[in-house]
Amino acid sequence: MISVVVPLYNEEESLTELFDRLESVMAELGEEYELIFIDDGSVDKSLLILRDLYEKSSHVKVLSLRRNYGKSAALSVGFKEAKGDIVITIDADLQDDPAELPVLIKKIEDGADLVSGWKRDRQDPWTKRVPSKFFNSVTSLMSGLRLHDFNCGLKAYRAEVVKSISVYGELHRFIPVLAGWEGFRVEETQVRHFKRKYGRSKYGGERFLNGFFDLVTVMFITRRALKPLHFFGRIAFVLFVVGLIPQIMFLFQYLGGAGLRVRPIMLAGFVLIIVSLQIGSIGLLAELFSARSGQEPSYTLKQHLARDSQQSPGGSELAR
Ligand code: UDP
Ligand code: MG
Repeated sequence: MISVVVPLYNEEESLTELFDRLESVMAELGEEYELIFIDDGSVDKSLLILRDLYEKSSHVKVLSLRRNYGKSAALSVGFKEAKGDIVITIDADLQDDPAELPVLIKKIEDGADLVSGWKRDRQDPWTKRVPSKFFNSVTSLMSGLRLHDFNCGLKAYRAEVVKSISVYGELHRFIPVLAGWEGFRVEETQVRHFKRKYGRSKYGGERFLNGFFDLVTVMFITRRALKPLHFFGRIAFVLFVVGLIPQIMFLFQYLGGAGLRVRPIMLAGFVLIIVSLQIGSIGLLAELFSARSGQEPSYTLKQHLARDSQQSPGGSELAR
């Protein structure tokens, strides 16, 4: 069985066309499938349209978040709901091509755990393409995962992957990194990309700054990559030793009979020692926090339309 997960926020114009195209692609594949739409607190007619689709097709499930929690939360709800052995995510704005699904599925069947789309010829304004390129190179460098496009909406996963990673905050940009660090086989495949036909992008170039902070977070929370105390501790250790050397030198000079005098190098050494203690204790605090921090996403559901599944906590069945 294949689950298609569609996170959406105010995408009323695209939904019907997207649904039609997904249905025809999936029908052609001939496998069992479900289309899970996660309305991320839309304030346009998206939810009404989704209700219609739910009435129209038995493949459709609809989950609606009580407010706009962001794409990560929407995906994580979808991942929880998905019953398929293969889970596919696709943006709702028709910028991704549903016709690519069979290619992604084939790659999973051939042994990949996660196949990520690469929007090689990205149809977005340069204000988005340029920072995105930069973001992708830094993420690739820092994470050691050689991908060109980490944040493509179009991805396919073996079910184990979505069940074992936790996507919250803004971490959807780093799903391949999280999966890669869990030891899953991550591959990339070029996909076609289209200009946004309707509505507006929910993300601008300014979000990329946050993306970099998130990268640091990701490096730390996946503790295997960077343990805070190891990271800060190393810096602190080096500074401490460098700061201590002149003090020892001057101590010996003093013991050898030299006069007492304050010297610039001595002051610099003291500064380094103090800073090293601060950095070291930040590392210790970060270590304690990262050991305790819950990584469970939190959200509440407004509506949950599904024929087969249990009601999720916080969800409510559609009143008909
Ligand atoms: N999206 C969402 N919640 C949000 C923002 C975006 O579910 O808070 C959905 C959006 O509806 C779309 C996908 O995430 O289906 C990608 O968003 P968008 O197209 O705005 O990003 P871009 O393609 O411009 O990077
Ligand atoms: Mg888009």
